[in-house]
Amino acid sequence: MNEAATPGPRFRRVLLKMSGEALMGDREFGHDRRVLRQLAEDCAAVHAMGVQLCLVIGGGNIVRGSTLAAAGVERSTADYMGMLGTVINALAVQSVIEQHVGIPTRVMSAIPMAAVCEPYIRRRAVRHLEKGRIVIFAAGTGNPYFTTDTAAALRAAEMGCDAILKGTQVDGVYSADPKRDPAAERYDHLTYLDVLARDLKVMDASAISLARESSIPIIVFSVHAPGAFARVLRGEGPHTIITEEALA
Ligand code: UDP
Repeated sequence: MNEAATPGPRFRRVLLKMSGEALMGDREFGHDRRVLRQLAEDCAAVHAMGVQLCLVIGGGNIVRGSTLAAAGVERSTADYMGMLGTVINALAVQSVIEQHVGIPTRVMSAIPMAAVCEPYIRRRAVRHLEKGRIVIFAAGTGNPYFTTDTAAALRAAEMGCDAILKGTQVDGVYSADPKRDPAAERYDHLTYLDVLARDLKVMDASAISLARESSIPIIVFSVHAPGAFARVLRGEGPHTIITEEALA
């Protein structure tokens, strides 16, 4: 195949956001080794396309701040516990990417933790990406009352990412939960305003607004389909893309 016939990656630098719960697989808590290996392989396929890669992993499989707060823990403390959970996940993902697919990674935490990982320093993060390292942003935004979705939009804006990839349980954004409503319709394309006005469950509103202000498209796809991450970056396979303008 000649070079002109080979579609190059549409994106130079992207950020993948996955919830902590996605790492659990069928387990009740923690990590499913099989899911972690799949994630590492999917990241390796994207890295091999020459795309610079950032990751933000949630913490819902370890601690969810709102659940602890409902059980009586003071809200900010509960959220700090949640952020520490995301550091545990970042270290798990770092370990599997380096051991299983051999790509150098750096974990950068919004809450400095000198003995465990690097502190988040924007210019250093950019340098790591330029050197081909996968950068895993841990501890969310470093602030209570936020989520890792907002952290994903914030870091994507700071890193100048071309897209935020949101890996979910289903293969895009639907009009209703497709697991409960067989008539639910999947959208190929939505605008940021559609998502906000219809309160579609994609990412929280502050994350959508931040992505909108920075004009970063959000691409929603299934984390369960092996290889889907690389496919959607080539514009293939089922996914929903969210942008400012309605596509013709
Ligand atoms: N969290 C926070 N500030 C942030 C990001 C996360 O306080 O900037 C806390 C919050 O308590 C949240 C928990 O960390 O419940 C885990 O993050 P999240 O719920 O976003 O994880 P996910 O649902 O993606 O697994």
